[in-house]
This record gives sequence, structure tokens and C-alpha cells, in this order.
Amino acid sequence: MDLAPTAEQEEFRYECRRWLQEHLPWEYGTGRPPRFDDLAEEVEFLRGWQAALARARLVGVTWPEEHGGRGAGPLHHYIVQEELARARAPELVGRIGVNLIGPTILAHGTSEQQRRWLPSILPAERIFCQLFSEPDAGSDLASLSTRAVPADGGWRLTGQKVWTSYAQFAQWGLCLARTDPDAPKHRGITAFVVDMEADGVEVRPLRQITGESDFNEVWLNDVLVAHDQMIGPPGDGWRVSQSTLGVERGTNPRQLVIHLQLLDDLFRLAADTGRNHDPVVRQALARAYSEVRLFQLQNWRVLSGMAAGRDHGPESATAKLYWSEMSQRLHATAIDVLGPSATLDGDDEHSPASGLWQRSWLYYQAATIFAGTSEIQRNIIAERTLGLPRDPR
Ligand SMILES: Cc1cc2nc3c(=O)[nH]c(=O)nc-3n(C[C@H](O)[C@H](O)[C@H](O)COP(=O)(O)OP(=O)(O)OC[C@H]3O[C@@H](n4cnc5c(N)ncnc54)[C@H](O)[C@@H]3O)c2cc1C
Repeated sequence: MDLAPTAEQEEFRYECRRWLQEHLPWEYGTGRPPRFDDLAEEVEFLRGWQAALARARLVGVTWPEEHGGRGAGPLHHYIVQEELARARAPELVGRIGVNLIGPTILAHGTSEQQRRWLPSILPAERIFCQLFSEPDAGSDLASLSTRAVPADGGWRLTGQKVWTSYAQFAQWGLCLARTDPDAPKHRGITAFVVDMEADGVEVRPLRQITGESDFNEVWLNDVLVAHDQMIGPPGDGWRVSQSTLGVERGTNPRQLVIHLQLLDDLFRLAADTGRNHDPVVRQALARAYSEVRLFQLQNWRVLSGMAAGRDHGPESATAKLYWSEMSQRLHATAIDVLGPSATLDGDDEHSPASGLWQRSWLYYQAATIFAGTSEIQRNIIAERTLGLPRDPR
């Protein structure tokens, strides 16, 4: 393993840790945020937190310095994620902009577009959403049918997007639309940045099984998008989208650290409830431990490749498939450990850990769907890693 940290990386790690110890908005390491009345209040609070992190230059460390980053490599990004998780700091509310859209604009936007949008992303002054999926275009994204037609001053977009996380708080969205219906389906798509406050944009929150509404349906009704909001040339949207999806499915330090913490919590829960004496539960705990460690090794492998300048290739599909299914097994073990109390609502005074496990179990049912479903990851592994022939159907 070629990931031994340099003295500079160790120093950077302590800089992050010290800063978090001094600035975390609640007691360091407890991970118990204040209770918010609703998601909007929580988002406002998290914007302030992200702005503070950005002032300390701890957001988007791999971004170039001229756009507010540190111009650092993937190991520095990994260190920040580890330290945020160690501190049990809240997630970045603008993570879609920071991790997906910003890097896409860096790769494909003009310098004017970079100056226009990038500065507001790191401090969460503006939140971006990802307007890719549609009711009939999820796994098969290239089938998307949102249309963009030339108009005075730009393009007019009409169609429906779905599962758009945080659209209700977003000022901008990176949208894929079909500009040439006669071209082969991957070639007729163009990427645009849509002003979410423009006339004709309608956002309807969807309620999830957690009871929360992180994602939305978004209608685009003849929305005017100016020429200078097109990312890349017309018809090149598929290539643009591959940058976004490539990062989304790449290494997953955030999920690694979340699951390292969940593992600790699971062992504590089993000890507190006395279930760690049950031989069947003990086996499940041992499996959870082994699987999280395997996930850690997988992450290190992808990361060491990236640090050596290699692009993360099909192995990121293996990592995505593995962690998402591992997560569901780990959560199922937690629910077994809880036993009958797993059925209690989080607000019930007898609910262990205020219902955090029940909520987390529900949330991670989505892990095998978002960022590419398990079936799609298996197809990628079969075709690109194992070289198996495509299913002719
Ligand atoms: C929590 C969450 C947040 C999300 N946030 C966003 C967001 O911000 N922006 C955005 O654009 N999208 C977002 N998505 C959408 C996500 O990318 C899609 O849900 C995902 O790509 C699957 O598409 P789909 O839901 O249309 O399912 P479908 O593609 O309709 O798939 C249905 C089922 O068929 C299977 N299937 C489909 N094709 C094949 C095949 N070729 N071989 C084998 N099996 C197949 C799938 O695996 C799945 O089990 C989010 C999803 C979730 C769950």
C-alpha cells in the first residue's frame, strides 16, 4: 500500500482537527446536532457551517487556488473527509455543487462561466442541484426527453426531472436536455445551467420513507436559458454528464467514514443491549466489522491509483456496489440488535438512540439506487472489468 502520509499531509490533518475542535457548532465528537423545526431551518444552519469551513479553506481542497481551493490532491480531500467524520461534523449542504457540479464546470465551463458560478459554491452562498434523471430516464439516462429549442437570446427548455436532491433550496441546476432529436440518443444532448428561480421552473418536494423531503420533482415549462449558460458545445452534453457521474461513482471517503462510525455505534448498541452475547448476533457483528474493513481497503486502492495519476476506472463500480450492499447488511444487523424496539418511532421515549438507527436503515434503502443502481454496477463490472459480452436483449 503506497499511501504512507508525508509530513505535510500529517500537518494538514492536524490543522483540520484543530480547526474542527475549535469551530464545530456543537460538542466535538458527539454528532448530536440541535433539533430543527424543519428542513429549511436546518439548511440555513448548514449554509452557515459550510461558509465557516470554506473560510478556513476546508471545502473543495482539490479545486484550483484561483477558485477558492488549495489545488491539493485526492489524499488531502480524503484527509478532510476523515477528520470531518472523526469530529462527527455535519454533511456539506452544498455537496452536490462542491463534489459534482463544480468539478464539471471546471472541466467543461469557459473561464467566464467558472468565474460566474464557482466562487459561490464553496461557501454555499448558492446551492446547485443535478437535473439529470427523468421519470423515463434513470439508469438509461441517454433516453432523456426534456427538450431545448433555440429561442431569442438562448434556448427554451421543457420537460420533467425527478429525484432532484435539494432542488427546493437550489439557485442553480445543471440540466441535461435534448437539443437534437434526430441525432443518435447520446449525441443529441446538451448541458445547461438553469436558474431555478426563472419563470417556468416548478419544484415539488417528494416525501421519502424517512418522512423527509430531500428530493423533488422539477417541471421546466418553456424556461428561457441564455446562450452563455450552456456548458460545453451543443450536442456534447453526454460527455459533460460523464464527468459528473464519474466523480459521483468514484472513491467514497464520506461513505467510508460514515460506516466506520456506524460500526462503532453498532458495537456500542450491541454492548448496551447485551445482545453481544448472542452467538448469532456475534457472527453478524464480525461480518459487519470485516466488511467495513474491506471497504476501507477498496477505498485505499482507488485512492492510491488516483494519487498516482490514474483515473478511477471500472473499479469504482465495484466499490459502489460493495459499499451500498454492505451498508444494507450492516443496518439489518442493527435492526436485529434493536429487536422489537426497532419498531418504535424516533420520538418515542423508549426508542434507543432517538430512533437514529431506524431512520438510517430507511435512508440507506436508497443506497443501492442513487449514483447508479446495483444492477447497473453489475453490468459495468461484467462488461468493462470482466469483458463479458453485452446482453443482446
Ligand atoms: C436518494 C436519491 C437521490 C437522488 N438524487 C438525484 C439527483 O439529485 N439528481 C438526479 O438527476 N437524480 C437523482 N437520483 C436518481 C438516481 O440517479 C436514479 O434513481 C437511478 O439512476 C435509477 O434510475 P430510476 O430510479 O429511474 O430507476 P430505473 O432506471 O427505472 O430502474 C428500475 C429498476 O430496473 C433496473 N434496471 C434498469 N436498467 C437495467 C439494465 N440495463 N440491466 C439491469 N437492470 C436494470 C434498475 O437496476 C432498477 O432496479 C436520486 C436517487 C435517489 C434514490
